[in-house]
Amino acid sequence: MKVPMRLSRYTLPTLKENPAEAQIASHRLMLRAGLVRQVAAGIYAWLPTGWRVLRNIAEIVREEQDRVGAQELLLPTLQTAELWKQTGRYEAYGAEMLRLKDRHERELIYSPTNELLIADLLKQSVNSYRDLPQILYHIQWKFRDELRPRFGVMRGREFLMKDGYSFDLDDQSAVTSYRIMMLAYMRTFKRMGIVAVPMKADTGPIGGDLSHEFHILAPTGESQVYYDSAVETAQVGTEEVDHRDPEALERFFTAVTTPYAATDEKHDEANWEQVPSERKREGRGIEVGQIFNFGTLYSELVGLQVAGPDGVAVLPNMGSYGIGVSRLVGAIIEASHDETGIIWPDAVAPFQVALINLKRGDARVDAACDSLYARLQSLGISVLYDDREERPGTKFADMDLIGLPWQIIVGPRGLDKDQVELKRRASGERFELSVEDALNRLSGNRAAG
Ligand code: ATP
Ligand code: MG
Repeated sequence: MKVPMRLSRYTLPTLKENPAEAQIASHRLMLRAGLVRQVAAGIYAWLPTGWRVLRNIAEIVREEQDRVGAQELLLPTLQTAELWKQTGRYEAYGAEMLRLKDRHERELIYSPTNELLIADLLKQSVNSYRDLPQILYHIQWKFRDELRPRFGVMRGREFLMKDGYSFDLDDQSAVTSYRIMMLAYMRTFKRMGIVAVPMKADTGPIGGDLSHEFHILAPTGESQVYYDSAVETAQVGTEEVDHRDPEALERFFTAVTTPYAATDEKHDEANWEQVPSERKREGRGIEVGQIFNFGTLYSELVGLQVAGPDGVAVLPNMGSYGIGVSRLVGAIIEASHDETGIIWPDAVAPFQVALINLKRGDARVDAACDSLYARLQSLGISVLYDDREERPGTKFADMDLIGLPWQIIVGPRGLDKDQVELKRRASGERFELSVEDALNRLSGNRAAG
């Protein structure tokens, strides 16, 4: 998302005061920085800046899925209730599923997850063992009528999820698909500038026996988590792993899953005791993703079969793989903010640079800013130009609040010395530089934004 913006013509409704309804930092900051507005309980409008972040996150997810050979498609949000009824899942899913009727009194559901639909669709395209394996995914809105939507987009009712599904001939191949997804997830979170630790998890209503949840450590997380910090170093070599090589995958998977890491549901005191105390990490975790391998459960439910090598019909093994794309916006803020506002990791920031004009109406300052704005644009660096007629203090506060990685501050006193000021939001470091040096510095630091 490189499109630049002038703040004077951009919807960024920042708030000075903390909104009373927000209990946690990310929710407060998302409202204050003008990223979202609540429309109904757990349902949000994504304003331009929030939408840019959401798109950046979704794009990283997409690139890492595509890179390991998963195929993107798009399933609808509204589906007929029939399939859910035929398979007994309609009753089983419970009150979280939103049920509605169209004008012909036909029952529809707003999808909370898509194991059934995708398995049913694959019946039309997969006939033989030669058609497997397959991994398909989409990035689509889900609705779950949560009893207590809270913490803003972290526990919404309508939320954006990447959900993926794998189909394999046998268990061994299904485990390989599961490992491929584990690899894609580790790369995805690493690129976002966060540490998300895979933890052994309960499978819950989706079923099956192999599952990991990915947790970001943050005090406001809803789960208690325990892990050996050795797992953090396992994130390091993921670039080199070849996802087409089952042995390399197994080595990677063993490295990631051997150090102790569990949510409270799977916590085991005896094993935890074995972890050296200096490596013990314990605290609250935010679940940003979960992966499952659940065997033939759904193939059986919908009657998905393929002809095996010996001609005998086989039920494919399935796995499902979720990432909370909209929850990640909140979770990243929980992990990366200070008392003045958000600190976006470069890779997901809505813009890379805030260009701050300290004296709107001063011909020299305006000209310097216009030229910087154009040059940043031609360098492919996304920029939000604060060209408003506001006091410098207001501009500094707003730009710290929305948390772009860099600020370029342009005023008459700097220009007297042919200099602008470059500020790194995360560290607060400031550099007085010539325009050329500032641009060089920024082009060396380019990322998605
Ligand atoms: P939770 O335990 O937090 O309710 P879940 O285990 O029911 O989540 P999954 O079915 O595993 O959720 O969905 C995949 C991902 O979607 C989760 O890891 C989470 O990041 C995200 N997610 C689930 N429910 C919500 C929600 N209500 N609001 C925002 N994101 C959600
Ligand atoms: Mg889950």
